[in-house]
Amino acid sequence: MRYDIAIVGGGPAGLSAAYSASKQGAKVALFEKDPSFGHNIRTSGVSWIKEMKKYEVSNEYYNPIRNFEFISPNNDIAIDGKEDTACVLDVRKTYQLLASKAAATGADLYVKSQVTDISRDPISKVSTLKITTTSGRESVESLLVIDASGFGCFAARKLGYVTEWRRYGAGAEYECYCDKVDKSTLTLMVGSKYSEAGYAWVFPLSENRVRIGVGIGKPNSQVDPIKKLNGLLSAKVTPLDRLGKIQPLEFHFGLIPNQGLRTKSTYDGMILVGDTVGQANPLVLEGIRYAIEFGRLAGKVGVDSLSYNSSLESLKQYEMANKKTLEKKINSALKVQARWLGLSDSEWDKEIEIIKGLTIDEFLDFIKSDFTTSKMLKVALNHPKLLAKQLFNLVLKK
Ligand SMILES: Cc1cc2nc3c(=O)[nH]c(=O)nc-3n(C[C@H](O)[C@H](O)[C@H](O)COP(=O)(O)OP(=O)(O)OC[C@H]3O[C@@H](n4cnc5c(N)ncnc54)[C@H](O)[C@@H]3O)c2cc1C
Repeated sequence: MRYDIAIVGGGPAGLSAAYSASKQGAKVALFEKDPSFGHNIRTSGVSWIKEMKKYEVSNEYYNPIRNFEFISPNNDIAIDGKEDTACVLDVRKTYQLLASKAAATGADLYVKSQVTDISRDPISKVSTLKITTTSGRESVESLLVIDASGFGCFAARKLGYVTEWRRYGAGAEYECYCDKVDKSTLTLMVGSKYSEAGYAWVFPLSENRVRIGVGIGKPNSQVDPIKKLNGLLSAKVTPLDRLGKIQPLEFHFGLIPNQGLRTKSTYDGMILVGDTVGQANPLVLEGIRYAIEFGRLAGKVGVDSLSYNSSLESLKQYEMANKKTLEKKINSALKVQARWLGLSDSEWDKEIEIIKGLTIDEFLDFIKSDFTTSKMLKVALNHPKLLAKQLFNLVLKK
């Protein structure tokens, strides 16, 4: 089989790359090792309504969120929004939508098709992928490979371009039936009771359905997130005690890189997108919208590069956009994360007071890591609360 572009991985990054590349007329194949898109959920699915609208993900794909709650061992703050801003996605339905959009533009999507090897001929500039599919072993040639294989970075690692992630978050989650859920409030729990290096969450999907999970930073803590989560559920710690009966219906587990952007996102004949290159916000481990945005860009730049044999030079626009949009944002988020990882339980009790001192817009900028220098300077200089000033000064520090 011969294609212009071969995509490894059918998460939000790969599916979005397939959509945009195929829409622009390229012959595209995407390979997903799981039996269906969104089959194996590795995410909690919180995102932002504004961005989802931009990517044509309409309100039937998510539960809207207006309010936010932070719980620390001895403190609890509530932030009431003026309108619905965040959302909890029906992940499977959303990924199936992204897949249908890619299919409608003409991309060939292969499920239960694992890419097992990749090589590139520097003379012909053609890459060859070996794939185990439902009909046996296949070989596929393409000028450009988009590595959207997520945390494992399969293709880029196989070619020796990158090494495995050293710092990452491990998350375990149950999607549950519960008797009573406040469906417009997203709850984050911090401090060692909930996670030794990270946070726990309650993300509502409807009046009777929530995702309850625990994320733990590695190598900061050796604690197993699954054990921690089971412990929280059996002890029914606050706020789980408010939910009535909690009946797990699905188990989800995932790993997410958390060490910042990789230094390079493009190579001769290859683009890295989504978790392969570390595009998620490390503060709150949020990567879906970036995976879609940069997946679409990878598809577009990829098509434009084909007449130049997808040389490194011809992929420059992607590399530049990746750095320009994400590098500063991610580095600022990493500074806050470093501070948060060092907090004791009593310090967490005080830290969430800072969040209480923010306006809803400041809070949203913060949680979304919208750390533009002008916005942060304004808060760092003028905020009436000293602790908030200090936090935003930290973001600005070189
Ligand atoms: C516990 C946890 C909670 C999270 N919560 C949120 C959240 O609330 N909101 C948010 O925005 N982000 C969240 N994230 C991050 C988000 O899930 C990722 O940033 C996002 O999924 C990245 O998309 P991707 O397409 O790059 O990778 P993935 O979604 O991981 O997709 C990669 C795909 O490649 C396939 N694949 C891998 N290797 C091969 C191979 N060799 N051949 C074929 N297919 C292959 C995989 O099966 C997978 O389907 C969370 C992550 C974790 C771990």
